[in-house]
Formats: sequence, C-alpha cells, structure tokens
Amino acid sequence: MTEEKMRFEAEVSRLLDIVVHSLYSNKDIFLRELISNASDACDKLRYEAIANPDLLAGDADFKVRLLTDDVRNVLTIADNGIGMNKDDLIDNLGTIANSGTAKFLDAVAKSDAPKDVDLIGQFGVGFYSAFMVAGKVDVVSKKAGEDQAWKWSSDGKGEYTIAEAEMEGHGTQITLHLTDEYKEFTDEHRLKHIVKTYSDHIGIPVVLMKGDGDETLNEASALWTRPKSEITEEQYKEFYKHNSHAFDDPWKTIHYRAEGAIEYTGLLYLPTMRPFDLYEPQRKGHLKLYVRKVFITEGADDLLPPWLRFVSGVVDSQDLPLNVSREMLQHNPVLTKIKNGLTKKILSELETAAKKDAEGFETFWENFGAVVKEGLYEDPSNRDRILKIAKFRSTKDDGWTTLADYVERMKDGQKAIYYISGEDIEALKRSPQLEGFAAKGIEVLLLTDPVDEFWLPSVGQFDEKDFKSVTRGGADLNDVKADDKDDAKDDKKDDAASDASLDALIASIKIALGDGIKDVRESDRLTSSACCLIADETGMDLRMERLMKQHNR
Ligand code: ADP
Ligand code: MG
Repeated sequence: MTEEKMRFEAEVSRLLDIVVHSLYSNKDIFLRELISNASDACDKLRYEAIANPDLLAGDADFKVRLLTDDVRNVLTIADNGIGMNKDDLIDNLGTIANSGTAKFLDAVAKSDAPKDVDLIGQFGVGFYSAFMVAGKVDVVSKKAGEDQAWKWSSDGKGEYTIAEAEMEGHGTQITLHLTDEYKEFTDEHRLKHIVKTYSDHIGIPVVLMKGDGDETLNEASALWTRPKSEITEEQYKEFYKHNSHAFDDPWKTIHYRAEGAIEYTGLLYLPTMRPFDLYEPQRKGHLKLYVRKVFITEGADDLLPPWLRFVSGVVDSQDLPLNVSREMLQHNPVLTKIKNGLTKKILSELETAAKKDAEGFETFWENFGAVVKEGLYEDPSNRDRILKIAKFRSTKDDGWTTLADYVERMKDGQKAIYYISGEDIEALKRSPQLEGFAAKGIEVLLLTDPVDEFWLPSVGQFDEKDFKSVTRGGADLNDVKADDKDDAKDDKKDDAASDASLDALIASIKIALGDGIKDVRESDRLTSSACCLIADETGMDLRMERLMKQHNR
C-alpha cells in the first residue's frame, strides 16, 4: 500500500507549533472541538440524505463514540457522519480554511506573552487542538457514498501522510496517541466530566463504549428544544461557541418560541466582540436553519437582513417541509415571516438593552452600530426603530447621544439637526466649520462611519427636523439666538472691515482661485479661523464628494 508524505501549509505548522508549546492550561477543550466536528459531520450527512437517502447506507442512527485503551494510551473519537475522502483530508486537515484561525495567529504574533495568554481558549483552534494532548493523531475516514477509506496520520511536526485504508461504513475515526503526560484522557470519569461540561448541548448522543455496556454521556437533545429553565448559562455559552464558531462570550442570548401564524424556535446570540470579517462580502453568517431538528443550511440570506449579520444561533421551523432544498428557500413566504419575526425580536431586545444597560449597549454600538445603520436605508420598515436606538458622537462631550436627546438640547430657533462627517473624530472636532456653531452653543453630531453618507440622504429627518451638514452653504445661523457669552461677535464684525474692503478682498480671492471654486462669501460661521471650505446648498456634501472620488465615480 502506498503512503504519500505531504507538508502542512506554512500557517498550519505555525499554528501547530503554538498549540503544542502553549502553556495553555485547559487541555480539555480538544475533546469539545473533536466532538463538535463529529456532530457537524452528522448534521451534514443528515441534510445530504434528504435528497439522497442511499448515502446513509441504512445507518441513520447518528452518534459520536468514544473508545479508550489505557494500556496503549489511546483515545478514539468516532462518528458516522459525512466522512472525508482524500481531497477533503488534504483540504481540511492540511490547510487553514477557517478564517478565525488566521486571526488567532495574528493575535499570537502581536501578543507580548503568547505563552501566558489564554488565546487558545479565546480562539479555539479546532481539529489541531488534538495535538495538545497527542503525540500522534490518526484519522481514518470514508466519505458517505464512496467506497475507498483513507488514513491521515501525523505527529504534528510539519508533515503528514495519507494512505488507503479499510473501514466499515462511512464516517470518521480520530485516534489520539496520548503523550504520557495526558494518560488521564483515557479515564472514564474524566471523559464524562468533560463531555458534561462542554458537549452536553450536542444534539446527538456522545457514547462511551465500555466492556460492561455503553453509556451516553450527554443530554443528546438539541439545546434549543429544551425548556429555558433547564439550561444553564454555561450550556448556552458552550452552544454559542460550537454553533457560531465564536471565540467570545455572547453579549445577549435570546431563546424563545414563536407561536401563532408561524411556529419556530429561535436561539439567537448577539456577540460581545466584533467578528473581524464583518465587512467581507463573502462572509457567511452563523445563523443556522433547522426544520424540526434537522439541519438545513447556515447563513441563509433570507433568514436575517444584512444589517443584523452579526447575529448567530439557530432557528428551528415547524412549518417548512422537511425536504425543503436550499434553492427552495429563496423568497419563501414562511422564511420571510420568520425573518420579520426575528428582526422584531432582536430590535426589541436592543431597545430594552438601550434603556436598561446603557454601558453594555454603547459597547455593542461601538462594535456594530455602523452595521445596524445600514438598516436605515436598506430596511425602511424598521427605520424609525433603528433611529431611536442609534447613538452618535457630538460636540457636546466625549460620550454618546441619541437623536432624541440631541433634539432636547436644540437652541431656540434652531431648526435642523447639524452634523459634520469625516474619517477622524479628532480632526472633525478641530474643523473650522464648527466655529460658528460653537459660538452659538449649537451642538453638532460628529459622524465618522462611511455608512453615514448613505443613510443620511434617504432618512432626511428625525422628529420632523432635517439633518443638515455644516459644510453646506447658508447654515442659517442667524435664526439661532446666540449664547450670552458670545455677544462680542457682532461688534467684531463692525470694526473688522468695512463692507467695501471686504468686497475687494472677496473679488481678489475669486480671481486668484478662478474655476477651482464656485463662490466666495462672507460668513457668520467662523470666529477664529480666517476662512473655510463649504459645500454648495444643493451640491454634494464635501465628504460624499471625497468618497465618490475615491471610488472613481
Ligand atoms: P472548523 O470545525 O471550524 O471548520 P476544524 O479545524 O475543527 O475547523 O475542522 C476543519 C475541517 O475538517 C472541518 O470544517 C471539516 O470539514 C473537517 N472535519 C473535521 N472533523 C471532521 C469529522 N469528524 N468528519 C468530517 N469532517 C471533519
Ligand atoms: Mg471544528
């Protein structure tokens, strides 16, 4: 039998080096990762088998089996899921597809004390965590529907081998040759405890194979189908990590049953950390769709609006047919209703948090506000609710404000909500265009998200007040009563320059700048700077103009 020797991708070698040499204390998590993969593999096969039942070859009793051998120091994790063929083994266990891993490597590279930091705990390195406890790992796998089994084998030191193998049925068996230090992982009690702690939420049985009869170690019912009162916070957290491939703890966990016209169970998570790929167009969301506990698909576009793409979890529908194909999901009316229901639920959760947990909500807004604001122009039906919770920086102080609070503070005679936009908040604060507003004590919103340029034109108003850029002409400052401290301004104007000499100055500036500008005007809006650039009342806002130029429009 021929055995092929191959090298790991460079990143995998780097990763393995960190995994093996890290002083990370919690080695237990390798089992969570391997059981999680086994359960995913069973979910995948269950779905494929809806269209092609032959793939099951009569074995629809999905399980993860644990076998120990304390003489040879071996722990085996076996599943009857989808399995892997030779190409799959090379792609999945020899390269890094999971984008989270790349981030892990960057974080470790940046960290001063990589060995002390619990980075693995934060990031989870999936399959490769097996090498924390094993000096050698063998993976024997046969893909459902294929005849040839394959054996992948490695000591985690740069190379692996692949060879043909024998196996009954389909699925994957992962054999860990434990190092002497980690003999403990052949101990029944130890394994039971780990499975209870990290894998109880797994929907299929995790069975310990023993001489005197097998023992199922986990609850083995899908977590979201259990009553809330029976689920601990830890179990919710573990499920989040498993389901969402997440590294943080959830900020909010929303678990509910919708009853009535459509019935579904939702277990939704709002993250604490911002996924680094939130703006990548190719990014797939981690909201999974199940139909009566059967996994159908993940990250379906029709399940959540894009402005909630950071929400992950599970939706289990009672109304969709079990044999629904992924293609059938597009523009499906049941799904549209679920989508609306989920959106409303999440919005009301955010509204509650905004009221009751201001600090938590502000952190959420710092991470996800820019994404939520996409909803202001993409989702007009929810625009008002989003506007109400939206938070903004302003010239008032360094904190956040809502629009309602801004309006509350508006000056007598002030008709519009003023804003200035740009990339850098500190630069914005220094902008000469703000001087006239500051002099009159008028607060100005400081907008730094590119998305602000898109929602502003389509939203236009809040509480019947127009949004108005300070860089536009005629910012009607004259209608606003000045703060007392600023009476000096009018005098200044009188003795600063006579009308005639001002006209002459304006004329000479116009000649000097020629076609580069549209007009030169005397202005009320400056108090200490000599001049500033403004946009025409009807023309494009300055920042929009810059953005458009960057995109060659
Ligand atoms: P992740 O689970 O986040 O994708 P892992 O490192 O845990 O990353 O696993 C890498 C890939 O290897 C999986 O995405 C899957 O395609 C494959 N894989 C791992 N374990 C199994 C298994 N037991 N059965 C089938 N495929 C598996
Ligand atoms: Mg995994």
